[in-house]
Amino acid sequence: SHKLCMIPGPIEFHEDVLQAMATPATSHVAANFIPVFGESIELLRQVLFTSGQPFIIAGSGTLGWDMTASNLIEAGEEVLVCNSGYFGDRFGECLETYGAKVTHIRVPVGEAPQLAAVAAALKGKKYKAVTITHVDTSTGVLSDIKGIAEVVRKESPETLVVVDGVCSVGSEEIRMDTWGIDVVVTASQKALGAPPGLCVMGVSERAIGVFKARKTPVPNYYANWTRWLPIMNAYEARKPSYFATPAVQSVFALHVSLKQIVAQGLENRFILHKEASAKAKKFIHDLGLKLVPTSLDHAANGMSAVYYPEGISATDLLPRMAAHGIVAAGGLHVDIAPKYFRIGHMGISVTEPERGHLDTTLNALKSALSECGYKGAL
Ligand code: PMP
Repeated sequence: SHKLCMIPGPIEFHEDVLQAMATPATSHVAANFIPVFGESIELLRQVLFTSGQPFIIAGSGTLGWDMTASNLIEAGEEVLVCNSGYFGDRFGECLETYGAKVTHIRVPVGEAPQLAAVAAALKGKKYKAVTITHVDTSTGVLSDIKGIAEVVRKESPETLVVVDGVCSVGSEEIRMDTWGIDVVVTASQKALGAPPGLCVMGVSERAIGVFKARKTPVPNYYANWTRWLPIMNAYEARKPSYFATPAVQSVFALHVSLKQIVAQGLENRFILHKEASAKAKKFIHDLGLKLVPTSLDHAANGMSAVYYPEGISATDLLPRMAAHGIVAAGGLHVDIAPKYFRIGHMGISVTEPERGHLDTTLNALKSALSECGYKGAL
């Protein structure tokens, strides 16, 4: 039978999202698809609190990095990466692929980048963009994107603020326009509650202007916004259009989930994720386990990264949790990978607590620890 997928994405689907994927073959220019795509674009503006340009493109979150790097950065330009783990390293690699000169602000595992470090870096050099991983899925660290954006706006007003929100959009507060964020990169399979397969982005008018003013050609074919902007505009105007075939069934699914998210209210959703996270983190603390983030002040609300207790490893704990019906994830950050595990608490698993997903997960953790011979505070 189906085990609950309680990893930090993909997450559990709502039944209506699942149903939306089971639609008959549909043309990407069909009269019943065009408005679904168009409305999804409009709903995304509400989710991201932006008047900017959303993109929904077949691909995954990683495509959002390629889109950012290839459309907004020209070879030789400087980019500052606020690096809180694995995904900062990877975004940096992607930027370098397109010729960016990348400087990382690195922090010890479990820490978040400091505003003062960002301010100091901006005083030393002119950066085209600053990137921030909102929630680094490898550490469960939540970065202060509002604070960092404020520092960038003050120290270097022209620098673009780019947020990797793959593990935060839909679970953490993000206000693109009022916080001065130019790009949010995300994907369908985490707190947006849809299957993997869609790269989802929000881009400010300012960043679109920077893109249009670039001097060199975009060094990418599929990811080139020159090709995608007319497509997004056409669907929003409820007109057929084609560059590359959209993932029709995935868009149907995302549309259902976005409607649910907006109907429930973003404010409400942020609170529910905070409450669920506080409950999970208290449970973990009461078991005598330690979180990877060094403080609750910078711990994500949609996931928890937890060190194994002394003498227990991934091969002990994760299969036992699975036997209790819960799929959790192993470690990902290279420095500590074998030493910790991760659980996701995003989307319907927390917005519909009556489903009991989080309680089942926490109880499975407790039982599995006990079966491993853990003698801590059980
Ligand atoms: N950034 C972050 C913070 C992520 O968690 C992930 C996926 N786990 C990615 C980027 C890459 O997204 P995808 O796997 O959808 O390509």
